[in-house]
Order: sequence, then structure tokens, then C-alpha cells
Amino acid sequence: MKRKFASFSVILIALVLIQCSSVPMSDRSQLSLIGNDKIFPMSFDQYEQVKKESKIITGTDDARTVKRVGTRIQRAVEQYFSDQGESNYLNDYKWEFNLIEEDEMVNAWCMPGGKVAFYTGIMPICKDELGVAVVMGHEIAHAIANHGRERISQQYAAQFGLSAVSILLTGGSGGPSIPTDIIMQGAGAATSLGILAFSRKHESEADKLGLYFMAMAGYNPQEAPKFWERMAAQSGGESPPEFVSTHPSHDTRISDLKKNMPKAMEYYKNSD
Ligand SMILES: [Zn+2]
Repeated sequence: MKRKFASFSVILIALVLIQCSSVPMSDRSQLSLIGNDKIFPMSFDQYEQVKKESKIITGTDDARTVKRVGTRIQRAVEQYFSDQGESNYLNDYKWEFNLIEEDEMVNAWCMPGGKVAFYTGIMPICKDELGVAVVMGHEIAHAIANHGRERISQQYAAQFGLSAVSILLTGGSGGPSIPTDIIMQGAGAATSLGILAFSRKHESEADKLGLYFMAMAGYNPQEAPKFWERMAAQSGGESPPEFVSTHPSHDTRISDLKKNMPKAMEYYKNSD
């Protein structure tokens, strides 16, 4: 009996080890029970749904800035992966950058596969294109690091247990579909739907990668601490935005940004 349990544990551990991926530019492996081939199409559907239910702003300076900054950072990231000989990593991403009219919402998010939304409420805190680049780098980093997939995997394992996970792993056609709320949670679309946001670990990682990504795109990363100062100073709204509520404390964040700044400045100097 005991031995049976032991061998079961070994199988379980092996299963979990196999189902891990490593996060680019980070010394960390992450749980990934579900492939992006399963997650991305659902994420894209969800994004279309959000677009249908929201007022997407077009033709204003802010809307153009969001698209321009997004595209610029996207290209810089693509260039980086291409230089590493890892272009394939980004194959299934379908980037899109939209500004949604919602002045009360001091937030932005990126769904798995590169679907970004900014709310008009965050634009005054961004202040200008550089501020948008800080937020954009951070959001794109969540998508590149597959934080959504990791979160979905964790939620899935916790909610449905091993039997459902094993169905997913074997790719059984009768496998349960992934509930919408788990996808949205994985997306970090959080506060708009009253769902928990990313963990602090994910937020710190997105801060670091976001700093590098904005720098690669030619945006001065030294703007990042200034943006987060403005964000921390902002109060109001009944529930704190995804952005500050789950983030590391302000002091930790600023000191982490400073720690990562020399490398970010190298990327900035080497950007076109
Ligand atoms: Zn975040």
C-alpha cells in the first residue's frame, strides 16, 4: 500500500517536472499543464468578446499612442528573440493593442497570446508616450513570460485535481473545457471582473522584463520608477487597481527597478 503510494508520487512528480517550461530571461521554471495551442484560441475569443462589450477608442492621440508603443515594443521583442535564434517562441502570438473608454478604470492588461487593453483611466498617470511604454512593457512581459498559462495551470490543478489534469495531458477529446473565468484570471483581466490578479512573483518578473523590453524599443527605462511613483501616489476608486494591489511594496519595487536598471540601460544604448 505504502509502496503503491510512493510510486504514484514518483509518477506525479515526474509528470509535473515534465510539464514545466522555463521563463525567458529569467532563471525560473514554471508549471505549464496546458499548451498555448489550447489557451491562445480561447484567449483570442475572450478578447473579441471584451471588444464587443466595450467602447474601443480610435482616432485620438491616446489611441494612436497605445498602438504605436505596443507595436514598437512588439517589434523589439521579436528582434530580440530572432537574435537569440528563438523566433519560433512567438509563432502563435497575435498582438493587438486597444484603448478602451473607461475613465474610472486605472488599469491595463494583456491576455495570453498578446491581446492588450489599456483603459482611459490609466492614461493621465502614464502622462506621455514614455509612461505608456512603461505599462506596455510590463503587460507584454506578462504575455511573453506566459504568466497566464502558469496561472491557468495552477488554478486548473487546484480546482479539478489530477484526473482532469491527466485528461488534458493525454489530450483526450472528451477532456473538460477550461472555464471562462480561469482564462480571464490567467489573463490578469482581473479587476474589471472581480477576479484575482497575478501573484507578486509574476508582477516582479513583469516589472523586470518590462523594463528590458521598453529599453530594447528605445524608450528610456529610467522613466519606469517615475511612473510607479505616480501610480503609488494615485488613490481613490473603491478597489485598488490590479496594478498596485498585488504589486510588491512600493519601496521593493523601486529598489528592484534600480537593481535591474544597468542591464536595461545596456539594452537602451543598443536600441536603434
Ligand atoms: Zn502586472
